[in-house]
Amino acid sequence: MYSRQSSPPSTTNSGTYSYSKTASAKWPLDQCQLTGALRLTRWTCEDDCKYRCMHAHVDQHGPVHQYHGKWAFRRMVGCQEPLSTVFSLGNLAQHWRGMQYLRRRTRAASARADMGSGVSAQWRKARWWAVFYALASIHLWVWSAVFHTRDVWITERGDYLGAAFATLCSLQWTSARLFGKWIPTWLSAMGILAVFARHAYWLLAFPRFDYGYNMAFNVGIGAVHNVIWIVWAITEIVRARSSGYDSSGRIRRAKLSLVMTVGLTLSMALELFDFAPWGRHLDAHALWHLSTIPLIPVWYQFITEDALAWAERGDDDGGAGSLDTLGSGQWSSVGGSKGGLASVSSVSSLGKYD
Ligand SMILES: [Zn+2]
Repeated sequence: MYSRQSSPPSTTNSGTYSYSKTASAKWPLDQCQLTGALRLTRWTCEDDCKYRCMHAHVDQHGPVHQYHGKWAFRRMVGCQEPLSTVFSLGNLAQHWRGMQYLRRRTRAASARADMGSGVSAQWRKARWWAVFYALASIHLWVWSAVFHTRDVWITERGDYLGAAFATLCSLQWTSARLFGKWIPTWLSAMGILAVFARHAYWLLAFPRFDYGYNMAFNVGIGAVHNVIWIVWAITEIVRARSSGYDSSGRIRRAKLSLVMTVGLTLSMALELFDFAPWGRHLDAHALWHLSTIPLIPVWYQFITEDALAWAERGDDDGGAGSLDTLGSGQWSSVGGSKGGLASVSSVSSLGKYD
Protein backbone atom coordinates (compact mmCIF):
# COMPACT_ATOMS: atom_id res chain seq x y z
CA MET A 1 0.00 0.00 0.00
CA TYR A 2 2.64 2.56 1.07
CA SER A 3 5.73 2.20 -1.00
CA ARG A 4 8.11 4.46 -2.74
CA GLN A 5 6.51 3.56 -6.04
CA SER A 6 2.89 4.20 -5.11
CA SER A 7 1.34 7.43 -3.86
CA PRO A 8 -0.36 7.46 -0.48
CA PRO A 9 -4.12 7.67 -0.75
CA SER A 10 -4.66 10.86 1.28
CA THR A 11 -2.01 13.40 0.30
CA THR A 12 0.88 13.43 -2.08
CA ASN A 13 3.62 13.72 0.51
CA SER A 14 2.47 12.08 3.74
CA GLY A 15 1.31 8.66 4.83
CA THR A 16 -1.22 8.18 7.59
CA TYR A 17 -1.07 5.15 9.79
CA SER A 18 -4.08 4.22 11.90
CA TYR A 19 -3.43 1.86 14.78
CA SER A 20 -6.80 2.07 16.46
CA LYS A 21 -10.30 3.33 15.60
CA THR A 22 -9.58 6.75 17.09
CA ALA A 23 -5.82 7.23 16.81
CA SER A 24 -3.60 7.81 13.84
CA ALA A 25 -0.41 9.66 12.94
CA LYS A 26 1.23 10.96 9.81
CA TRP A 27 4.68 10.69 8.41
CA PRO A 28 6.02 12.16 5.18
CA LEU A 29 6.31 9.23 2.84
CA ASP A 30 8.49 10.99 0.32
CA GLN A 31 11.24 10.93 2.93
CA CYS A 32 11.35 7.14 2.84
CA GLN A 33 14.97 6.16 2.53
CA LEU A 34 15.77 2.65 3.62
CA THR A 35 19.31 2.16 4.87
CA GLY A 36 21.31 -0.96 4.08
CA ALA A 37 20.54 -2.41 7.53
CA LEU A 38 16.81 -1.83 7.05
CA ARG A 39 16.88 -3.47 3.64
CA LEU A 40 18.87 -6.38 5.04
CA THR A 41 16.25 -6.92 7.76
CA ARG A 42 13.51 -6.63 5.10
CA TRP A 43 11.86 -3.38 6.12
CA THR A 44 9.59 -1.86 3.48
CA CYS A 45 8.64 1.81 3.14
CA GLU A 46 5.24 0.88 4.53
CA ASP A 47 6.87 -0.74 7.59
CA ASP A 48 9.12 2.29 7.99
CA CYS A 49 6.15 4.64 7.79
CA LYS A 50 4.26 2.64 10.42
CA TYR A 51 7.33 2.67 12.67
CA ARG A 52 7.79 6.43 12.39
CA CYS A 53 4.07 7.13 12.79
CA MET A 54 4.03 4.95 15.89
CA HIS A 55 6.88 6.86 17.52
CA ALA A 56 5.37 10.20 16.45
CA HIS A 57 2.24 9.14 18.33
CA VAL A 58 4.25 8.11 21.41
CA ASP A 59 6.10 11.45 21.30
CA GLN A 60 2.75 13.19 21.53
CA HIS A 61 0.84 10.97 23.92
CA GLY A 62 3.40 8.90 25.83
CA PRO A 63 3.76 5.09 25.84
CA VAL A 64 0.10 4.40 26.57
CA HIS A 65 -0.70 2.24 23.56
CA GLN A 66 0.27 -1.12 22.28
CA TYR A 67 0.45 -1.15 18.50
CA HIS A 68 -0.97 -4.40 17.13
CA GLY A 69 -0.14 -6.09 20.41
CA LYS A 70 3.36 -4.63 20.68
CA TRP A 71 4.85 -1.73 22.61
CA ALA A 72 6.75 0.97 20.72
CA PHE A 73 10.41 -0.09 20.75
CA ARG A 74 13.33 1.86 19.34
CA ARG A 75 14.91 -0.18 16.58
CA MET A 76 18.66 -0.59 16.16
CA VAL A 77 20.37 -1.47 12.85
CA GLY A 78 17.05 -2.82 11.63
CA CYS A 79 16.43 -4.89 14.77
CA GLN A 80 12.94 -4.23 16.17
CA GLU A 81 13.55 -5.24 19.78
CA PRO A 82 17.31 -5.07 20.35
CA LEU A 83 17.34 -6.07 24.02
CA SER A 84 15.08 -9.10 23.56
CA THR A 85 17.29 -10.16 20.64
CA VAL A 86 20.50 -9.83 22.66
CA PHE A 87 19.00 -11.71 25.61
CA SER A 88 17.72 -14.44 23.27
CA LEU A 89 21.28 -14.88 22.02
CA GLY A 90 22.41 -15.06 25.66
CA ASN A 91 19.97 -17.93 26.27
CA LEU A 92 21.13 -19.60 23.08
CA ALA A 93 24.78 -19.44 24.19
CA GLN A 94 23.89 -20.87 27.61
CA HIS A 95 22.06 -23.86 26.11
CA TRP A 96 24.99 -24.48 23.77
CA ARG A 97 27.48 -24.41 26.66
CA GLY A 98 25.18 -26.54 28.79
CA MET A 99 24.80 -29.17 26.08
CA GLN A 100 28.58 -29.39 25.63
CA TYR A 101 29.02 -29.72 29.41
CA LEU A 102 26.37 -32.44 29.67
CA ARG A 103 27.82 -34.43 26.76
CA ARG A 104 31.42 -34.11 27.97
CA ARG A 105 30.74 -35.08 31.59
CA THR A 106 28.51 -38.05 30.70
CA ARG A 107 30.58 -39.39 27.79
CA ALA A 108 32.36 -42.05 29.85
CA ALA A 109 29.12 -43.29 31.39
CA SER A 110 27.51 -43.30 27.95
CA ALA A 111 30.33 -45.52 26.65
CA ARG A 112 29.72 -47.87 29.59
CA ALA A 113 26.01 -47.94 28.72
CA ASP A 114 26.86 -48.77 25.09
CA MET A 115 28.90 -51.75 26.30
CA GLY A 116 26.17 -52.79 28.71
CA SER A 117 28.54 -52.60 31.64
CA GLY A 118 26.63 -51.39 34.66
CA VAL A 119 24.72 -48.43 33.17
CA SER A 120 21.11 -49.17 32.30
CA ALA A 121 19.42 -48.86 28.91
CA GLN A 122 16.92 -46.44 30.44
CA TRP A 123 19.79 -44.16 31.49
CA ARG A 124 20.93 -44.10 27.88
CA LYS A 125 17.45 -43.09 26.70
CA ALA A 126 17.19 -40.36 29.30
CA ARG A 127 20.59 -38.95 28.31
CA TRP A 128 19.57 -39.01 24.65
CA TRP A 129 16.41 -37.02 25.44
CA ALA A 130 18.36 -34.57 27.61
CA VAL A 131 20.64 -33.81 24.64
CA PHE A 132 17.61 -33.60 22.34
CA TYR A 133 16.01 -31.12 24.74
CA ALA A 134 19.21 -29.03 24.56
CA LEU A 135 19.06 -29.06 20.74
CA ALA A 136 15.35 -28.11 20.79
CA SER A 137 16.20 -25.21 23.14
CA ILE A 138 19.00 -24.00 20.84
CA HIS A 139 16.51 -24.18 17.94
CA LEU A 140 13.99 -22.17 19.99
CA TRP A 141 16.42 -19.37 20.86
CA VAL A 142 17.55 -19.04 17.24
CA TRP A 143 13.90 -18.43 16.33
CA SER A 144 13.46 -16.10 19.28
CA ALA A 145 16.44 -13.96 18.22
CA VAL A 146 15.14 -13.85 14.63
CA PHE A 147 11.58 -13.05 15.76
CA HIS A 148 12.68 -10.16 17.99
CA THR A 149 14.81 -8.86 15.12
CA ARG A 150 11.83 -8.86 12.74
CA ASP A 151 8.30 -9.70 13.73
CA VAL A 152 6.60 -11.18 10.66
CA TRP A 153 4.23 -14.13 10.16
CA ILE A 154 6.87 -16.84 9.75
CA THR A 155 9.20 -15.65 12.55
CA GLU A 156 6.31 -15.34 15.00
CA ARG A 157 5.16 -18.91 14.29
CA GLY A 158 8.76 -20.12 14.53
CA ASP A 159 9.20 -18.51 17.94
CA TYR A 160 5.91 -19.71 19.40
CA LEU A 161 6.06 -23.25 18.04
CA GLY A 162 9.76 -23.52 18.90
CA ALA A 163 8.97 -22.58 22.51
CA ALA A 164 6.18 -25.15 22.74
CA PHE A 165 8.39 -27.85 21.19
CA ALA A 166 11.32 -27.19 23.56
CA THR A 167 9.05 -27.25 26.63
CA LEU A 168 7.47 -30.51 25.46
CA CYS A 169 10.95 -31.98 24.88
CA SER A 170 11.85 -31.13 28.48
CA LEU A 171 8.68 -32.93 29.53
CA GLN A 172 9.70 -35.94 27.43
CA TRP A 173 13.14 -36.00 29.10
CA THR A 174 11.34 -35.73 32.47
CA SER A 175 9.24 -38.76 31.55
CA ALA A 176 12.30 -40.78 30.46
CA ARG A 177 14.17 -39.75 33.62
CA LEU A 178 11.45 -40.21 36.25
CA PHE A 179 8.75 -42.47 34.79
CA GLY A 180 10.67 -44.72 32.38
CA LYS A 181 9.96 -47.70 34.61
CA TRP A 182 6.22 -47.35 34.10
CA ILE A 183 5.83 -45.48 30.79
CA PRO A 184 7.88 -46.74 27.81
CA THR A 185 9.91 -43.86 26.40
CA TRP A 186 8.57 -44.40 22.87
CA LEU A 187 5.00 -44.20 24.19
CA SER A 188 5.55 -40.89 26.01
CA ALA A 189 7.34 -39.55 22.90
CA MET A 190 4.33 -40.45 20.73
CA GLY A 191 1.96 -38.80 23.21
CA ILE A 192 4.04 -35.64 23.33
CA LEU A 193 4.36 -35.54 19.55
CA ALA A 194 0.56 -35.81 19.29
CA VAL A 195 0.12 -32.90 21.73
CA PHE A 196 2.58 -30.81 19.71
CA ALA A 197 0.89 -31.67 16.38
CA ARG A 198 -2.49 -30.69 17.76
CA HIS A 199 -1.06 -27.43 19.15
CA ALA A 200 0.65 -26.59 15.85
CA TYR A 201 -2.55 -27.32 13.92
CA TRP A 202 -4.51 -25.06 16.26
CA LEU A 203 -2.08 -22.18 15.73
CA LEU A 204 -1.58 -22.58 11.98
CA ALA A 205 -4.99 -23.65 10.70
CA PHE A 206 -6.85 -20.45 11.46
CA PRO A 207 -6.09 -17.07 9.91
CA ARG A 208 -6.28 -15.29 13.25
CA PHE A 209 -3.54 -16.20 15.74
CA ASP A 210 -5.01 -17.16 19.10
CA TYR A 211 -2.61 -15.44 21.52
CA GLY A 212 -4.72 -16.29 24.58
CA TYR A 213 -4.75 -20.01 23.75
CA ASN A 214 -1.01 -20.00 22.97
CA MET A 215 -0.19 -18.34 26.30
CA ALA A 216 -2.48 -20.75 28.22
CA PHE A 217 -0.86 -23.76 26.49
CA ASN A 218 2.71 -22.68 27.27
CA VAL A 219 1.96 -21.68 30.84
CA GLY A 220 0.07 -24.97 31.35
CA ILE A 221 2.83 -27.22 29.98
CA GLY A 222 5.50 -25.22 31.82
CA ALA A 223 3.54 -25.47 35.07
CA VAL A 224 3.12 -29.27 34.74
CA HIS A 225 6.87 -29.62 34.12
CA ASN A 226 7.86 -27.36 37.02
CA VAL A 227 5.40 -28.90 39.48
CA ILE A 228 6.75 -32.40 38.72
CA TRP A 229 10.32 -31.31 39.45
CA ILE A 230 9.41 -29.23 42.53
CA VAL A 231 7.53 -32.22 44.01
CA TRP A 232 10.46 -34.52 43.12
CA ALA A 233 13.01 -32.16 44.74
CA ILE A 234 11.02 -31.73 47.94
CA THR A 235 10.51 -35.52 48.15
CA GLU A 236 14.26 -36.07 47.68
CA ILE A 237 15.15 -33.58 50.42
CA VAL A 238 12.60 -35.04 52.86
CA ARG A 239 13.78 -38.61 52.15
CA ALA A 240 17.46 -37.75 52.51
CA ARG A 241 16.87 -35.80 55.75
CA SER A 242 14.59 -38.43 57.29
CA SER A 243 17.14 -41.13 56.55
CA GLY A 244 19.89 -38.91 58.01
CA TYR A 245 21.96 -39.73 54.98
CA ASP A 246 22.70 -37.08 52.37
CA SER A 247 24.14 -39.68 50.03
CA SER A 248 26.81 -37.66 48.30
CA GLY A 249 25.02 -34.57 47.15
CA ARG A 250 21.48 -35.89 46.86
CA ILE A 251 20.14 -32.80 48.67
CA ARG A 252 22.40 -30.55 46.63
CA ARG A 253 21.03 -31.97 43.39
CA ALA A 254 17.47 -31.53 44.61
CA LYS A 255 18.30 -27.90 45.47
CA LEU A 256 19.72 -27.30 41.99
CA SER A 257 16.45 -28.57 40.53
CA LEU A 258 14.46 -26.36 42.92
CA VAL A 259 16.48 -23.23 42.07
CA MET A 260 15.79 -23.73 38.37
CA THR A 261 12.11 -24.63 38.52
CA VAL A 262 11.11 -22.09 41.18
CA GLY A 263 13.23 -19.44 39.40
CA LEU A 264 11.59 -20.27 36.09
CA THR A 265 8.11 -20.14 37.62
CA LEU A 266 8.84 -16.71 39.15
CA SER A 267 10.32 -15.39 35.92
CA MET A 268 7.16 -16.43 34.05
CA ALA A 269 5.34 -13.80 36.13
CA LEU A 270 7.22 -11.19 34.08
CA GLU A 271 5.57 -12.55 30.96
CA LEU A 272 2.14 -12.32 32.56
CA PHE A 273 2.52 -8.83 34.11
CA ASP A 274 3.34 -6.63 31.18
CA PHE A 275 4.35 -2.94 31.33
CA ALA A 276 5.37 -0.25 28.85
CA PRO A 277 9.09 -0.36 27.96
CA TRP A 278 11.50 1.88 29.86
CA GLY A 279 13.21 4.25 27.45
CA ARG A 280 11.32 2.42 24.65
CA HIS A 281 13.84 -0.41 25.13
CA LEU A 282 13.38 -2.56 28.22
CA ASP A 283 9.99 -4.21 28.74
CA ALA A 284 8.77 -7.16 30.82
CA HIS A 285 9.32 -9.61 27.97
CA ALA A 286 12.98 -8.59 27.56
CA LEU A 287 13.44 -8.85 31.34
CA TRP A 288 11.93 -12.33 31.20
CA HIS A 289 14.49 -13.39 28.59
CA LEU A 290 17.24 -11.80 30.70
CA SER A 291 16.10 -13.58 33.87
CA THR A 292 16.38 -17.07 32.36
CA ILE A 293 20.04 -16.64 31.28
CA PRO A 294 21.59 -17.35 34.74
CA LEU A 295 19.13 -20.20 35.41
CA ILE A 296 20.13 -22.33 32.42
CA PRO A 297 23.61 -23.39 33.68
CA VAL A 298 22.00 -24.43 36.98
CA TRP A 299 19.64 -26.68 35.05
CA TYR A 300 22.42 -28.31 33.05
CA GLN A 301 24.45 -28.77 36.22
CA PHE A 302 21.47 -30.57 37.69
CA ILE A 303 20.81 -32.72 34.61
CA THR A 304 24.50 -33.67 34.41
CA GLU A 305 25.09 -34.40 38.10
CA ASP A 306 21.83 -36.30 38.32
CA ALA A 307 22.81 -38.41 35.28
CA LEU A 308 26.26 -39.13 36.77
CA ALA A 309 24.74 -40.17 40.09
CA TRP A 310 22.23 -42.42 38.34
CA ALA A 311 24.94 -43.99 36.17
CA GLU A 312 26.99 -44.67 39.28
CA ARG A 313 24.06 -46.37 41.01
CA GLY A 314 23.44 -48.46 37.91
CA ASP A 315 19.75 -49.02 38.67
CA ASP A 316 17.09 -49.04 36.00
CA ASP A 317 14.44 -46.69 37.32
CA GLY A 318 16.21 -43.36 37.59
CA GLY A 319 16.19 -43.46 41.36
CA ALA A 320 12.45 -43.96 41.82
CA GLY A 321 13.33 -46.76 44.20
CA SER A 322 16.49 -45.12 45.47
CA LEU A 323 15.62 -45.60 49.12
CA ASP A 324 16.15 -49.32 48.59
CA THR A 325 19.82 -48.74 47.87
CA LEU A 326 20.57 -46.47 50.81
CA GLY A 327 21.66 -49.23 53.11
CA SER A 328 24.11 -50.64 50.65
CA GLY A 329 26.13 -47.45 50.64
CA GLN A 330 25.92 -47.08 46.87
CA TRP A 331 25.01 -43.40 47.16
CA SER A 332 28.20 -42.59 49.04
CA SER A 333 30.30 -43.93 46.23
CA VAL A 334 28.89 -41.46 43.70
CA GLY A 335 31.69 -39.87 41.71
CA GLY A 336 32.93 -40.06 38.21
CA SER A 337 35.97 -39.03 36.27
CA LYS A 338 37.67 -35.79 37.33
CA GLY A 339 36.41 -36.24 40.88
CA GLY A 340 32.78 -36.54 39.82
CA LEU A 341 30.25 -34.88 42.04
CA ALA A 342 32.74 -34.29 44.80
CA SER A 343 34.30 -31.64 42.60
CA VAL A 344 31.11 -29.59 42.71
CA SER A 345 30.47 -29.58 46.39
CA SER A 346 28.50 -26.47 47.26
CA VAL A 347 25.48 -24.64 45.95
CA SER A 348 27.61 -21.48 45.89
CA SER A 349 29.12 -22.79 42.65
CA LEU A 350 25.72 -22.46 40.96
CA GLY A 351 25.95 -21.88 37.27
CA LYS A 352 29.70 -22.47 37.06
CA TYR A 353 30.78 -25.46 35.02
CA ASP A 354 33.93 -27.20 36.18
ZN1 LIG B 1 10.54 -13.54 23.22
